[in-house]
Amino acid sequence: MELLNINELHINFSTNGGQVQVLSGFCLDIQKGNSICLVGESGCGKTIVALSIMRLLPENAQISGKIRFKDRDLLTLGKEEMRRIRGHEISMIFEQPSSCLNPVFTVGDQIAEAVRANEECEKKEARESAIALMKLTGIPSPEKRFGQYPHEFSGGMLQRAMISIAMASKPALLIADEPTTSLDVSVQAQMIELIKDLIAKFDMSLLLITHDLGVAAELCRDVVVMYAGEIVENGGLNEVFDHPRHPYTQALLKAISDGELRPIRGTVPELTHLPEGCRFHPRCPYAKEQCCYLKPDLINGVRCHLWKKC
Ligand code: SF4
Repeated sequence: MELLNINELHINFSTNGGQVQVLSGFCLDIQKGNSICLVGESGCGKTIVALSIMRLLPENAQISGKIRFKDRDLLTLGKEEMRRIRGHEISMIFEQPSSCLNPVFTVGDQIAEAVRANEECEKKEARESAIALMKLTGIPSPEKRFGQYPHEFSGGMLQRAMISIAMASKPALLIADEPTTSLDVSVQAQMIELIKDLIAKFDMSLLLITHDLGVAAELCRDVVVMYAGEIVENGGLNEVFDHPRHPYTQALLKAISDGELRPIRGTVPELTHLPEGCRFHPRCPYAKEQCCYLKPDLINGVRCHLWKKC
């Protein structure tokens, strides 16, 4: 069953220097219970996709296209209706949980607040539910931890607290934006296991945003590879990772060597100065003359002139 469908999403930012195109013709389908990841280097538009689903883009953003969630077009909903969906049916966790938690309230109170935002209950019940959520997300001694402040939590524990808040509503869709990037490697593995357990237990769909292909492989069934504001390749994760067709996907996968990320030659273009033709052509080892002026379409899951006959 289809949960989220994004169709031909275009996003421009109005700036003093004119219009900047940050996302171009983006399409995505998420079925109920499926997990899908957006991968690509920083600045390719992954987070813009997440923020547009949550309707949290800055005021200078101009959006066209459709974002359908359970048969409602999120882009046409009023602010109040959207607020009911955000944090209830769709929850999001971020790379830096410390920036999302209020330092002057205890972690437990903030989780209990999220519980009360989702169900009518007395403070005492909200506290019990919050402690249950803390247990669920693996926070040790939750009764004691309930009364502690964010600065008393480690990075991993803060991420667990953030996930507790996200899970207070048992959302249909969890959006996780680089949820493991700021964590130590050992804590990263625990966080992956936690997210995996939660999506299975609550039959949630997951939209993961990451530049880490290892994390993507652990958590997701499908993958969307983005470059400079557009999709360059998509499909089943195993198929794409085992047989990458787009030269950018091939380069991303090649860049992972001995567990370390080596940069791909060249840099992601500035969105204010996107190259003509194929946006990847200045970095592509297979670029032909036509690639410099002729823009490839996304055909059969790949945006590259080399594959247009497939
Ligand atoms: Fe490379 Fe050309 Fe394919 Fe772009 S269209 S990825 S430049 S071969």
